[in-house]
Amino acid sequence: MSGRPPAVHELLAELSELVSRLGRETVKGVIRDHLAHLRAAGRAFPEKKELIAQLQEKLVPLTRPSYPGVINATGVLIHTNLGRSPRLPVDVGGYLALELDLESGQRGERLAPVRDKLRRYFGAEDALVVTNNAAALLLLLAAHARGKEVVVSRGELIEIGGSFRLPEIMAEAGAKLVEVGCTNRTHLSDYRKALTGETAAILQVHRSNFAMTGFVTNPDPESLGRLAHEKGVAFWVDQGSGCHQDLRPYGLRNERTVQELLAAGADVVLFSGDKLLGGPQAGILVGRKEALAPLRQHPLRRALRPDKATLVGLAATLDCYLSGDGHRVPLYRLLSQDLAQLCRRARRLARRLQAQGLPAVAVPSHAVLGGGTTPGQGLASWGVALPDVPAVARALRLGQPPVIARQEQGKLLLDLKAVFPEQDGDLAFAVQQAWAYART
Ligand SMILES: *Cc1c(COP(=O)(O)O)cnc(C)c1O
Repeated sequence: MSGRPPAVHELLAELSELVSRLGRETVKGVIRDHLAHLRAAGRAFPEKKELIAQLQEKLVPLTRPSYPGVINATGVLIHTNLGRSPRLPVDVGGYLALELDLESGQRGERLAPVRDKLRRYFGAEDALVVTNNAAALLLLLAAHARGKEVVVSRGELIEIGGSFRLPEIMAEAGAKLVEVGCTNRTHLSDYRKALTGETAAILQVHRSNFAMTGFVTNPDPESLGRLAHEKGVAFWVDQGSGCHQDLRPYGLRNERTVQELLAAGADVVLFSGDKLLGGPQAGILVGRKEALAPLRQHPLRRALRPDKATLVGLAATLDCYLSGDGHRVPLYRLLSQDLAQLCRRARRLARRLQAQGLPAVAVPSHAVLGGGTTPGQGLASWGVALPDVPAVARALRLGQPPVIARQEQGKLLLDLKAVFPEQDGDLAFAVQQAWAYART
């Protein structure tokens, strides 16, 4: 330890521009932490100029927006790190009639408008919304299965993104997990043998983020529903993705939709709002009235209540589907871009970049839905490839707007499937800037 650092007020004076943007206390805190860090490292304090530069390096990132909008050139449409599905813009800045019936002036039920739309769209008796799908499962289990058994196939004991592990949620809710079958094969008879007087339900879980192929069997939901109801237990499906329409027109395999699962006899189907529904983060439960009524009364429900922005966003999304305007939902705007359009856009972008001297080429690419929706399935796409020279990917991320690209086989690939056509101009500009910056 040698030398003395400049006084804090001196440093503050040098950093006055950042002080005015970040506030004096924030800058002071960063200075103190940095000096303490240097002291602890036992090194000499740098020259004042160098010290100021070090502090600027720490402070400048704090001036950036906390959650900047980005251009998603990864080719992953439902990207967990980028907020899952893009969603319709809604404005909930001011006051709104959230729990007020304007007709009568009486207190209203905040969920009523969304519940009504969910019921109509999914053809369900009843519906409930909580903060996310994990919460939906927790509430369902807590309300019906505390101290009871829930039967799940060994092939469906999933973990999603580290913190959602089915056995752990079961334990938290006080339900006893009864595993049946094997990883690859579970038969109806396995379920039948597991049903006892203690069974609350059979739970089927969508294998969201992996696919099993080969020697694989699982009973279909119709048979499971029939078995459950014969034995007087409930049949629930954690469908996860919220698939609600035929995906074949978008070049994907057909999946069981929420509506089909209800028709097959599921008492409750639960799913996320921000996957294939293309709405805000939410956990949605649709199903039979008697099955959902205990959830509505449960004390946990208040703790899992969705925010007003969620309800407004969900209502707007459902309005699109109900009025036959589902193609306006941003996720489906992206999905309905066909290959010829993507190819034209890729060529145009490549030409534009070439004109600025960049070695860009339009290339066929592959995108995915992602977010644990259609594991193992790809979507044909087009993009623009550049040599992956050092620092370009970072320069793109730190650009204006930030661009998240894909690094693949020594190339930097800008996949256009998750880029909205109106972003193409901004994308071209950001790439030129980042390229120029990385080359200097
Ligand atoms: C995504 C998913 C979840 C978790 O949903 P969140 O909305 O992220 O809580 C749970 N179960 C399945 C089957 C899923 O696909």
